[in-house]
Amino acid sequence: MLFYKIRVQKGVKVMKFSEFIYKRIDLEETKKKIQEITEKLKHAQSVEEQVQAVYEMNDVKKEIATADSLVYIRYTINTKDEFYAKEREYNDHIGPMLEEEMQKYNKVLLASPFRKELEEKLGKVLFINLELSMKGFSPEITELLQKESTLQTQYQSLLASAQIEFDGEKCNLSQLGPYMQSQDREVRKAAYEATGKFFDEHQGELDEIFDKLVKNRTEQAHRLGMKNFVELGYVRRQRNCYAPEAIADFRQQVVRDLVPIVCEIKKNQAERIGVEDLKIYDDSLQFPDGNAIPQGTYDEIMEAGRKMYTEMSPETADFIKMMFDRELFDVVAKPGKATGGYCADIPGYGCPFIFSNFNGTAGDVDVLTHEAGHAFAEYMAEKNIELIDMHLPSMEAAETHSMSMEFFATPWYELFFKHQTKKYEVSHLEGTLNFIPYGCLVDHFQQVVYEHPEMTPAERNEAWLKLEKMYRPYLDLEGMPFYGRGAGWQRQNHIYLTPFYYIDYCLAQTVALQFWLEIEKDWKQAWEKYKMFVQRGGTDTFLGLVAGVGLASPVEDGCIREIAGHASEWLKEHKL
Ligand SMILES: [Zn+2]
Repeated sequence: MLFYKIRVQKGVKVMKFSEFIYKRIDLEETKKKIQEITEKLKHAQSVEEQVQAVYEMNDVKKEIATADSLVYIRYTINTKDEFYAKEREYNDHIGPMLEEEMQKYNKVLLASPFRKELEEKLGKVLFINLELSMKGFSPEITELLQKESTLQTQYQSLLASAQIEFDGEKCNLSQLGPYMQSQDREVRKAAYEATGKFFDEHQGELDEIFDKLVKNRTEQAHRLGMKNFVELGYVRRQRNCYAPEAIADFRQQVVRDLVPIVCEIKKNQAERIGVEDLKIYDDSLQFPDGNAIPQGTYDEIMEAGRKMYTEMSPETADFIKMMFDRELFDVVAKPGKATGGYCADIPGYGCPFIFSNFNGTAGDVDVLTHEAGHAFAEYMAEKNIELIDMHLPSMEAAETHSMSMEFFATPWYELFFKHQTKKYEVSHLEGTLNFIPYGCLVDHFQQVVYEHPEMTPAERNEAWLKLEKMYRPYLDLEGMPFYGRGAGWQRQNHIYLTPFYYIDYCLAQTVALQFWLEIEKDWKQAWEKYKMFVQRGGTDTFLGLVAGVGLASPVEDGCIREIAGHASEWLKEHKL
């Protein structure tokens, strides 16, 4: 049902996000539609008839995704909006029931007598992913999924409710960001302590929510006949081309080949900022006179983003024009707004949306490079790929879109950072490298937690501290509230909201760094490769997409060593 999809033509009024119409999904009506299409699929006499049914279902999926996105976006923009808060609860409630109906359709599709022809026409990866999603769902877990979703919302609301007294102001967690990077060590320390105090004050609630989540997720895995949630986590994350063992090997590569280089970087950083032992509150201050920050007002930063994409390529020029014309950004921090940033697809309107909380740090520019990288991929998919299920690849590949865009933006950094451009360039590469061991830590922690669901909250914190020493041996947490007792992982919302998501970032960074090596040689050639990667959307697996443009698989031994070697050289040459 694309009746509300508007065509953007010259002279025709462009519909803005605020004018997008939210239409509640009627549970019974939609279930009936899904059932009818499933019947059609079942009784189809030819592959053509089946393909037609697949496209009909595609419209239903678009309608559901559009309603979901509009509710989610408008709720996160203002978590106090009662209407969208209710609609979010409603969607949480009906989601699993629709999923249950959709699974019946999937079953028929997978059992099609025309499977081979369908795979040829629609793409093999669609069926691999369907098989995974079948594995990850059964009506027996519907109730558990609803409970899981409620727990996740509880965690989000708790964090969004933070009103931390600091420097005479009431701040939410995002607004404390700049203080945590302050040049004044005492201010940084105080900001970390203030954040830590908030988490300490809610320790009971945070531990309880997580404990319930672990037990809930483990029970889901058991009901689906799996050993533990690690297995289910991989299924849920659509890991269609590698197993947990390959990731364990990847993490080992990181510990062996990258952690020593990060230790070097951190040693330099400590010297640079003039501290003897790097404390957790020094970790993100990369320069004594402060980290690079965007130079300009909100309007100037947004304008720089527009200029960058307009100059970058014809495709990005069209993309950014649409983003501005249709007002597809909400990036100013406001009270009541959810924390973090994301990019969401609104398929019914054929466009993405970017959400963030600007706070005056370089993170604001990341929104225009990273989140816009996601948005650009969505935009390309909307143009080139009809089936919504094939729009985006699994998350590592999707994060490759955004993280690579951060590097492709290098020639335009100057628009944002002016005299601080060199500093930003160094800190961006250092940050990328520093991140990978941290991401592995988050992943490793979750593996331990879900392999041992019986662990107590205190044991979980202990496990985190132990892994900290392996992946971030340079970091001193002693004497700090919250962090010192090994609870720092509770700030990492992915652990609560999207389990096992974090390693995707590490794999993606590894590919993005390969694009960076190519950009260093020839920007234009690298861009053509990137465009090819993005254009293929979700029509292949992550490793298939990577191999498709001739890059190395991150899980292959040696990949990390190669990148780390080059990056270390580059940093020596560009030492500030
Ligand atoms: Zn991202």
